[in-house]
Amino acid sequence: MADLEILGAKISDLDMVETVCALAAYIDVGRQQNSLEPMLHHIVTLNAEILYKAQSDPRLLDIINRAALVTPDGSGVVMAARELCGREIDRVTGIDLLQELCRRAPSLGWSVYLLGAAPGVAEAAAHNLTEQYGVNVCGWHDGYFKPEELPWILGEINEKKPDILFVGLGAPKQEFWIDENRDRLRVPLVLGVGGCFDVISGNLKRAPLAFQRLGLEWLWRLLREPWRIKRMTALPKFVLLVKREARRKRRQQAASVRLNVGRKSADENKKDVKKDKKLPQ
Ligand code: UDP
Repeated sequence: MADLEILGAKISDLDMVETVCALAAYIDVGRQQNSLEPMLHHIVTLNAEILYKAQSDPRLLDIINRAALVTPDGSGVVMAARELCGREIDRVTGIDLLQELCRRAPSLGWSVYLLGAAPGVAEAAAHNLTEQYGVNVCGWHDGYFKPEELPWILGEINEKKPDILFVGLGAPKQEFWIDENRDRLRVPLVLGVGGCFDVISGNLKRAPLAFQRLGLEWLWRLLREPWRIKRMTALPKFVLLVKREARRKRRQQAASVRLNVGRKSADENKKDVKKDKKLPQ
């Protein structure tokens, strides 16, 4: 597995099938590690908004770079991979990954726990996931709990022993939450999934396929939830940052090519001088 580096953050270049295989291996490793304290693997589903935020938040960038796997959730990240690394990578969104893992869960014996969203939403999402995929959702809790409720919630998750914990507290809140609690959670695989439970519960409609294919899911969300406009100002800023970084990389490459050509011709000149010296007078 080779990670790409985009604006200081590592991002996986795996497609959906490869990602699910990698996560299945993490679950196996985590289960074998120690049944009481399996090794936790944090999976970040990264979009442009969060990657832009991480540029001015070293703690967030550090969490991203310490994650077991960072998937390209948004079309902005895919565009950045093309511009900065010359690579075409597939989007692996949080919601597609969640559904794919739930589809495979029954045959692989995985159970899942849902944490996040408004009261009643995770429960509705749990019912829909069980109905659609037959997955064992061993528990759920809303994402609006008080700090004093945290020990109880962690206790419940650990008692239910899910193989996968989906955390939908919105990014980057969920990334900080997972990182802060990683030593207290006995779960092999933990994924931050943003607002996925709202969609899976049927409370919110996901962008139609045409919007998804054109990389315009952000526009759909903006039309449905206009209050997002302030957060979304990060998107054009992200595009400008990527373009600037791409120009800087191109200039650097051109300079190193010029330097190599210069070195080569200097070497050739030296060789010619040596040859001239050796010539019989
Ligand atoms: N949320 C939560 N607890 C909080 C704040 C937010 O559970 O303290 C939930 C919110 O109800 C929603 C999700 O986190 O379900 C955030 O969704 P959003 O689409 O804003 O997140 P994104 O996908 O952009 O990260």
